Amino acid sequence: MKKVKFTLKSQELKEKKVFRDAIHNYIHVDHDVVLKLINSAAMQRLKRIKQLGGIHQVFQSAEHSRFTHSLGVYAVVRRMLEESVIGDYLNDYEKLTVMIAGLLHDLGHGPFSHCFENIFQQKHEAYTVRIIKEDQEIHHILEDCVKGLSHDVASVIDKTHPNHILIQMISSQLDADRMDYLLRDSYFTGTTYGQFDLSRILRVMQVRQGKIVYKYSGVQAIENYILARYHMYWQVYYHPTTRCYEQILISIFRRISDLYKQKKINCDLEYLLPFINHDVSIQDYLNLDEYICFYYFRKLSQHPDTILSDLCQRLLNRKLFVYEDYKSAKQKSLIETQCLKAGYDPRYYVFGDDQMQIPYLHYGNKDDIREIEIIKGHQLTSLPDVSEIVGAIIKAKENKTDSKIYYPETIDK
Ligand code: ZN
Repeated sequence: MKKVKFTLKSQELKEKKVFRDAIHNYIHVDHDVVLKLINSAAMQRLKRIKQLGGIHQVFQSAEHSRFTHSLGVYAVVRRMLEESVIGDYLNDYEKLTVMIAGLLHDLGHGPFSHCFENIFQQKHEAYTVRIIKEDQEIHHILEDCVKGLSHDVASVIDKTHPNHILIQMISSQLDADRMDYLLRDSYFTGTTYGQFDLSRILRVMQVRQGKIVYKYSGVQAIENYILARYHMYWQVYYHPTTRCYEQILISIFRRISDLYKQKKINCDLEYLLPFINHDVSIQDYLNLDEYICFYYFRKLSQHPDTILSDLCQRLLNRKLFVYEDYKSAKQKSLIETQCLKAGYDPRYYVFGDDQMQIPYLHYGNKDDIREIEIIKGHQLTSLPDVSEIVGAIIKAKENKTDSKIYYPETIDK
C-alpha cells in the first residue's frame, strides 16, 4: 500500500473499542492496527512493570503500570489530533504513525524503571526502537498494515522522522508523554502537584514553519504545566525514601552479579543471566518483568549469603535504610567505618545519591524544535522571553539539587 494513498478509514474497526481510564475516562480505539498492538505480548508485558518503580513505598496507591500510561499517551496524541489544529497539518498516514508512536513509546522499559537502566546500562529508548523493528509480533502487525510503518514509527521515537511535528508530539518539553504522566502520577499518588490544564494547552497549540508553537494567551497554562512537573519531581519522583528503595535494588542486583561471577550462587537465575553476562537478545529483554524479579527476591531472601538474603528481606518487608544530607567525603568515610564495625559491608550498605532537576531547558538557538515557542504579534519567541516565571527559573545561578547518604538504621554513630 502506498503511504500517500493510505486512509485511516481503511483501518477502521467494525466495532470500535473503548478502554475505561482513570485520567481520560474513555480511551477510544478506532483502528485495527492499534487494537492488535494493544493486544500484543510486548504491550501486555507493560502491565507487569510499574510506572513509578518504588514510589508506591511512599505513596502507596501509586500502583499503576506502564501499560496504562502508554494507553494514556496514545489518548493525549489522539486528543491533539482532534482538539488542536495539528490534525489539519498531518495526512492520515502521519496521524496513524504518531498515534502508534505514542502507544509504543515505552515498550523498551525494563523492570523498576530508570533504576534498572542504571544497573545494567540498558537505555529504554534504544530497546523501544529495537523491539519495534525486531520483535516478530510487533513488526508483523505494523508491516501488515503498511509496509515501512515499523521504520516510520521507530523514527518518531529516535527523533529522526522528517516531520518535526510528530517528534514534538511524542518527545519534547511539552509532549503527550509528559502530559499523561504528570496527570496520571499525580492522580495515583494522591497528590495535586502534577495537575495542569490539558484542554487549554491543546486549544493554544498552533503550527508555524513546520513545528508546533503556542498562542501567547496560553503562556500561563504552560507555566502552570512546567511548575507542575518541577513540583512533582521534588515532592514525588525524588522522594528520599523512594531513592533508598532503588539503591537497595541496585545493591541486590550488584550482589547477585558479584556472587555469580565468583560461582557462589547456584540457583536458577535463567531470566537474569543474559543481563549479568551483558548478552541480551530482544526476547531475553521481553522475558524480564517485575513479577519475575520479585520471584527471585523471594527465593533469594532465603539464600545462605547473608548480604543477599538480608537485602532481599529488606526490600520485600520495607525495612529500608535511614538517610541524612550528604555533606562531605569525611562524613561518608565515618559512616562506612561505623558500618563495617556493625558487620555491614559498606559496598552494599552505604550509598550516596545526588538528584537535580532542570525545570526548563533553554537552548537559545532560534528554530531549535526543543524550545517551547510562543507567537507574539507576528513573531515567534522562546518561552523564557515572554514568561517572567520561566525567565527567572533559567536565570537562577544554580539548579536545585539534593544529595543524600543512606545506611542501615542499626549502626552506632
Ligand atoms: Zn512515557
